[in-house]
Amino acid sequence: MTVWRNWGRSASSSPVRVARPTSVDEVVAVVRAAAEQGLTVKAVGAGHSFTDIAATDGVLIQLDGLQGLLGVDAATKRVRVAAGTRLWNLGPLLAQHGLALQNMGDIDRQSLAGATSTGTHGTGYGFAGLAAQLTAATLVTGSGELLRVDESHRPELLPAVRLGLGALGILVELEVQCVDAFLLRASEHPMPFDEAVDRWDEFSTGSDHFEFYWWPHTEVVMTKSNTRLPADTPHQVPGRVETWVEQQLLSNHALRAVVGLGKAIPALTPPLSRLATRVYGDREWTGASYDVFASPRNVRFRESEYAIPFDALPEALHAVRRMIEQFGRPISFPVEIRSAAPDENWMSTASERQSAYIAVHRYFRDDETPYFREFDTLMRTFEGRPHWGKMHFRTAEDLRPAYPHFDDFLRVRDELDPDRRFTNPYLERVLGA
Ligand SMILES: Cc1cc2nc3c(=O)[nH]c(=O)nc-3n(C[C@H](O)[C@H](O)[C@H](O)COP(=O)(O)OP(=O)(O)OC[C@H]3O[C@@H](n4cnc5c(N)ncnc54)[C@H](O)[C@@H]3O)c2cc1C
Repeated sequence: MTVWRNWGRSASSSPVRVARPTSVDEVVAVVRAAAEQGLTVKAVGAGHSFTDIAATDGVLIQLDGLQGLLGVDAATKRVRVAAGTRLWNLGPLLAQHGLALQNMGDIDRQSLAGATSTGTHGTGYGFAGLAAQLTAATLVTGSGELLRVDESHRPELLPAVRLGLGALGILVELEVQCVDAFLLRASEHPMPFDEAVDRWDEFSTGSDHFEFYWWPHTEVVMTKSNTRLPADTPHQVPGRVETWVEQQLLSNHALRAVVGLGKAIPALTPPLSRLATRVYGDREWTGASYDVFASPRNVRFRESEYAIPFDALPEALHAVRRMIEQFGRPISFPVEIRSAAPDENWMSTASERQSAYIAVHRYFRDDETPYFREFDTLMRTFEGRPHWGKMHFRTAEDLRPAYPHFDDFLRVRDELDPDRRFTNPYLERVLGA
């Protein structure tokens, strides 16, 4: 029997079989065969969701066989991409055509379809999440039909299928609105917690891509601002040793030491965290957008993340800090703060709302439930919307009021998947049966 597990080791399942199609026709055949047998079907990307959104005890479709650029329209800067394409492949592929994704999250291991289906986002006051960059999608619906949705064919479905939680069909092709390839100048500086929070609005609106990390039990945050530069801007590429020291030694290895020792002796977490913040200094470097947006994440963790109204961030983060201080157990993983522009996708955490994001993490060997549960309860009081791929405790009943178009999405689900070929327990919880 095959056992599937996600990256965070927080979800697993035992599919009856795993299909590895290498063509769209094969995907159609897999869905039709499952329908004949009365089985459910689930596509899986990189398994980087922390929730069990990709878990299935039916047929699991691994889409690594559907990768690559299928077409490039230089005039409109739109590209057709096979849905299983990994983001780390996509950056260099687009660069060959002088193009880039407009914005990205902080890693690039995900598949394009998996990332967009859960609302993966980066940071930037003026920049929306990945799914907002999609202009068309082709998917296999519950009846095994191939459906293309774009600006001239069924455009009313676009706000649903661009970010469909895997509930509407198996995406086989996506069209992405790209931008000209660009560089990013990254600038990292430590800063007092209060200053970063008090000047949240100023820093976010004054930078293309601003974010910061706060290590619980310390007074310091690490800020990161990325500035967009034309691709031909002269710059020095950091050496391999320098990159290793910064990305691996100072980030991953320092983090591994804090979470590992903190797990063994929890009382060590606050002094270790304070020590860890001291290894961070000022640094600046410039590189291709996809290299700077994404960093390696080698320490396995679990995560919960909520979108809240942008202006609520200072009050909400102070509340999170109080919650952590009163929690009773030290927290060894940093809290991450980002922002995003509103978008039109119905199930986007930034749907029709300028948003701030607060993400909390726990080492995967720690029990995350009590911490995430308190965080979840707190975020509800700030009109929070949970990331679909990150751990939360919400249900369809209490999510409906958080999304203006929740019922519109359910209507599309009824049309494209009336027999619930693509359902699983997670979708039943957040969308209903
Ligand atoms: C280390 C780490 C860092 C992360 N950083 C960020 C970040 O910076 N920003 C952020 O927003 N999120 C982040 N995430 C969350 C991650 O981006 C999302 O959970 C994303 O969905 C993972 O993509 P995936 O390819 O692994 O999809 P999976 O987890 O495999 O699948 C996610 C969903 O997409 C569906 N799906 C996959 N392929 C298809 C398809 N072809 N057709 C239809 N449905 C499909 C699945 O069925 C499932 O419902 C991070 C996660 C990790 C582990």
